[in-house]
Parts: sequence; C-alpha cells; structure tokens
Amino acid sequence: SGTTSPADLRADFPLLDQTVNGHPLVYLDSAATAQRPQVVLDAELEFLEKRNAAVHRGAHTLAAEATEEFEGAREAVARFVGARADEIAWQSNATDALNTIAFAIGTASRGRGGEGARRFALQPGDELVVTEAEHHANLIPWQELAAQTGAVLRYVPVDEDGLWTIDELRAVVTEKTRLIAFAHVSNVTGMVAPVAEVVRVAASVGALTVLDACQSAPHRPLELGALGVDFAAFSAHKMLGPTGLGVLYGKRELLNALPPGRTGGSMITTVTMDHAEFLPAPQRFEAGTQPVSQAVALGAAVGYLTDAGVPAILDHEHALAARLYDGLSSIPGLRLIGPGAGVERAGLVSFDVAGVHAHDAGQYLDSRGIAVRVGHHCAQPLHRRLGLTASVRASVYLYNTVDDVDVFLEAAAGIRPYFGL
Ligand code: PMP
Repeated sequence: SGTTSPADLRADFPLLDQTVNGHPLVYLDSAATAQRPQVVLDAELEFLEKRNAAVHRGAHTLAAEATEEFEGAREAVARFVGARADEIAWQSNATDALNTIAFAIGTASRGRGGEGARRFALQPGDELVVTEAEHHANLIPWQELAAQTGAVLRYVPVDEDGLWTIDELRAVVTEKTRLIAFAHVSNVTGMVAPVAEVVRVAASVGALTVLDACQSAPHRPLELGALGVDFAAFSAHKMLGPTGLGVLYGKRELLNALPPGRTGGSMITTVTMDHAEFLPAPQRFEAGTQPVSQAVALGAAVGYLTDAGVPAILDHEHALAARLYDGLSSIPGLRLIGPGAGVERAGLVSFDVAGVHAHDAGQYLDSRGIAVRVGHHCAQPLHRRLGLTASVRASVYLYNTVDDVDVFLEAAAGIRPYFGL
C-alpha cells in the first residue's frame, strides 16, 4: 500500500514474465482465473514440504500444526471479507458453494433438518429470483431447486446493455419470494449490483439473499457482515489462490439451522446405524477430507492482497477499465457491453466485433501474445438477450499495467482490418 502502485507488484508473478507466440505475454483474463504471486506458490509448497497432515483428528504434532495453519487460513479469509471464521466453509469452488446452499434448501424442503430447518422449506408456488445476467453457476442450481420443489424461478430482465436496476428487481419480487440470488459484479458486463438495496428489498418480504461474490471478493473491499447478505460464494483461483477451493459464507445462525446436503466423515458428532447428529458450521458443510494446502495458499493470497491494499487495487482497476472502455469505444465496428461512461464498471470490458466471430478475434489477439476470454462466459441467457452468441472479454487485475492496456488496444484496432473489414 502507500506509494506503491499495484502494478509495481507485477514482478511477484512469475508466470507473467514470458513470451507467447513471440510477444511478451499480456494477460487480460483474470476474471476467468488469476495468476499467483511467488509467496502464494511458496506458502503451499512449504506447507506440503513441512506440515502436511490430516487436520482435526490426529494426535500427532504435524496434525496439530496442519490444523492450526488450516484454521488460521479460515480466520484470514473471514477477516478479509468481514465475516467470522465459523461463517466460512471451504468448498471446491464457487459453483460448489452455490450448489451447497441450493442442496441444503432442497434437503430442508424434503422435511430434513428438524424444526429449525422448516423455515427454509420451499412449497409449490414459492418464488426464487435471479437476474438475467447471472453466470450459469448462479442460475442452474436454482433452476434445479425450483424443479425439485415446485417453486417458480423468476428473473429480473436486463436491458440491451445487459444492465438491470433495483426498480426492475422490485417489480419482480413479491410476497412469495423466498430467495434472491445475484452477482455482486457481473463477469460479462462489469456492472456492480446495488447490494444494500437488494438486501432491503429481500428483507421487506422475508426472502434470503445469496451473493455471487466471485468477481467482487478479489477486487474490492467486501464486508459481508455489514452488507447483510445471508449467503455468499467466491472462488480462490480468481483471487491469487489455488484452484479446487471455493468459499461459502453464511450468517452463522442460518448455517447452523440448515441441513447439510452432503454428509459423511468429519461433519458429525454422534453416529448410530440409523442416525447421525451434525457438527455446527462450518464443519457441517465440510464433509470429507478438505483441500488443506489450498486453504493455506488462499490464506497467503488474502495476506498478499491486504498488503497490496484492496482499495488501491480497486482504484487501479477502475483506471485501467476506463482506459479500456475509452480506447475500445473509439475503435470502429466494436459494440461494448455493459455500463456506459460515467457509470461504475469493474475491471473488465466485453465487446462484440462486427463481422468477426469472438473466437477468431481471440485467436488474432493470441497471435500477438494477448490472452483474453472469448465465448459466452457461462452466461448464455445474457448473451441471448444481447443478440449475441459470444463476446470478447478483457479483464484486469492488480498486476496489469497501462502498457498492457495500450498493447491490447492497438491490437484490438487491428482485428477488423486483419479480417478485411
Ligand atoms: N460466478 C461468476 C460471476 C463467475 O465469474 C464465476 C467464474 N467464471 C463463477 C460464478 C464460477 O466460479 P467457479 O468456476 O470458480 O466455480
């Protein structure tokens, strides 16, 4: 923090120092997965070399050390997102975390979980609300839950830029709404949702809120407790951490009342041949052996992000996003998706290139050493609404520089000419 600009930390990321197709790599795909600084790689390796053991059960020294480090990582992640450690459950990824919530509500709807779980049970005709801009990970689990319970899935429509407003949400929410699931930051449009207002709308009808924080937790200060959402999900690999690890946040009282959808070892107190009692959160949502070295690495990653300064990272990304937006806006034949000038946009820009398929555009950029994402970005309904099957997405993180953006913009200006347009 202080006088160091986030991009000065670029040298901490070994992967970025390479050439691709004869050009210095310009990595503009951090919204898909982020690169890891050496300290995160080292933290995981050092754990594996010195302290790796099964956590929570062993009577031996290594097991105790591993447990301490594993739980320390949980505390670090909890602090990072403004939560308590027992409100953070490890999952395989954000998709898994969202499924865990849906499974738990489905389990309660089948009458499991006793008295305390009854309030989560869905009845035919109850309503679940999402937006038309959701990532498939925050759409399909709710489709499945609706299909299994007879609940109805409703959605907040987006406009021709892929945006929605709180008034449109209000128009969809009714007394029957039991849950509202929405992305904090869209992985396609870069729109930032009005979280506090959504929470107020949900509270007015007694609905639960589920925040998909995949594109916010890595990039902006996040205080989940203060925001008041009931549940949230995010992935370690988008925030300088490893793959195979996601985070489920839930208000403690809710997590403890929900019946786990997945059961087995490490999540029980007493088991007989016909019954089991479950541990409180977070263990009740952590059946089986956990991704221990990965959690340790995520602990190191949030330490690194905190040292870099999350507000400084956000400022840096806003500046790069504005440069991306302005530069792309001035290129003929590009259609930019998402918030216009003057409206907050997270560190990404998706666009359509008239007359050129997104995959061809992506290949052209790759031939210049530039890594972007092409396709529907796991948001087919959104693309359908925009009249597109695919788009090109450039996304930035703390290690990207003005130079990265300028190299990309120059190449982007060459896409249509290259294809003879
Ligand atoms: N939601 C959003 C908004 C995302 O960007 C992503 C990752 N592309 C996910 C959910 C799913 O994350 P994961 O694949 O790590 O589970």
